Amino acid sequence: MSYQNQRTINGTIKLSGVGLHNGVKVNLVIKPAKENFGIQFQRVDLSHDNLIEASFKNVVEPILCTKIKNKNGTTISTVEHLMAAFFGEGIDNALVEVDAPEIPILDGSASEFVDAIRSVGSRSQNELRKFIKVLKKVEINEGEKYISIEPLENDLIVDFEIVYTNPLIRRRRKEFKLSNADLVEIYNSRTFCLYEDIDFIKSQGLAKGGSLDNAVVVKGNEILNENGLRNRHEFVFHKILDCLGDLMLSGHRIFGHVKTSQGGHALTNKLLIKFFSNKSNWAITTNLAEGKKDNLKDSTKRSVSANI
Ligand SMILES: [Zn+2]
Repeated sequence: MSYQNQRTINGTIKLSGVGLHNGVKVNLVIKPAKENFGIQFQRVDLSHDNLIEASFKNVVEPILCTKIKNKNGTTISTVEHLMAAFFGEGIDNALVEVDAPEIPILDGSASEFVDAIRSVGSRSQNELRKFIKVLKKVEINEGEKYISIEPLENDLIVDFEIVYTNPLIRRRRKEFKLSNADLVEIYNSRTFCLYEDIDFIKSQGLAKGGSLDNAVVVKGNEILNENGLRNRHEFVFHKILDCLGDLMLSGHRIFGHVKTSQGGHALTNKLLIKFFSNKSNWAITTNLAEGKKDNLKDSTKRSVSANI
């Protein structure tokens, strides 16, 4: 039998940037936290009721980003890329102080969050990490959109298909497998949008901070960003990044097989709500089966791969 301890960051991280949707400058301070604290956001621009737990139960209006809200109505938006960095870098416990209602978009990917976490490193804590084991298949069908999760021993697979009529993005499908994954290209993949959708998105009061510095913009067959794509699969890899961040809102890492076509923040959240609504769907374990341990080394020893 093999067990694994919870981890937190080894020092304080400071980052700043603008929010993608509100365009507001924001300062982020990420601090180590004690065992079983989980990931919590604190709106330090507010004097009270300012703590928001990173939980799927707190997700509201998951439109073009993941926004969470506490019971007093305090919100924080666009948490998904930072949550994906915590997922991949093996961070279980951290306090994220933020002085505006949106996490900075930085370059539109998770790479700056990951670099910052690696720059301070992480440390093992006294309590064991808990994992969620999928016991039964759960699925959500919404017209052409689909997502499901089913049992898988000691591993996570996210099989993601995107379908666009745009001739450049088209239909693409990629699979992320935790036990043999190299997360570099997933971390580096930026958020994207179609040029023709920008006016509509802005009319909804969103993407006020959006620019070619933090999003890939596709117009017909052309990518408007000067240097093009960072990797061949950047579109679908970014969707996998979002999905990993949203799954981390379960509060623990999930062992299971996720399959989705045209998934996104809203669909992943619906899946988690349905999945956790029935206790016979899942179990919590601290035990990793022997033989899988090598794939789940602690984060200080690995530089390019999944750390959990
Ligand atoms: Zn995203």
